[in-house]
Amino acid sequence: MYEDLPRTKREAQQLGAKRYFTGRLCCHGHLSPRYTYGACIACKSEQRKKARKIVPLAIRKALLKEANSSGASIAPALVKGCH
Ligand SMILES: [Zn+2]
Repeated sequence: MYEDLPRTKREAQQLGAKRYFTGRLCCHGHLSPRYTYGACIACKSEQRKKARKIVPLAIRKALLKEANSSGASIAPALVKGCH
């Protein structure tokens, strides 16, 4: 079902497509197309679900505040993708 997508990021960019499909697993084991800005679609939707479930907005705001006041950076795992 993803065969119509470009196979590489470069190809996708040349075609002006937002997604491409390499046919390879991402580092989290998803066989899923990727966005040209560098994220696997399955990872993205999982991140979104997790963010909603595990870290409610109020807590995230509190964490941000704390991180800002202590000068530390926010937990990179929450922000950083794998690609
Ligand atoms: Zn993934």
